[in-house]
Amino acid sequence: MIPVNIKINEKGNLLVKWDDSSESEMQPSHLRRYCPCAVCASLEENHHHDSIKVFTDRQLNILDLKLVGNYALSISWGDNHNTGIYDFSYLKKISEL
Ligand SMILES: [Zn+2]
Repeated sequence: MIPVNIKINEKGNLLVKWDDSSESEMQPSHLRRYCPCAVCASLEENHHHDSIKVFTDRQLNILDLKLVGNYALSISWGDNHNTGIYDFSYLKKISEL
């Protein structure tokens, strides 16, 4: 499945419209928690379901969204963290967590 539109909505959440016309809405804290970059992915507590990592406002401030080729979304965060590449299947998967 691929997105046909990706934006930040009025609530500050990421809104993804998929090509099957379904929609996913994700809070910045959810996206940051599941940041797929090597550094975050190696911090195992990020991905534990029995704990919640608390981020600072800067770490949850989405500065920019970019498409990577035609397969992924890159998010730039307020603390200059921008190495997480969310491929579309991963994005779909975490939207259902
Ligand atoms: Zn990361």
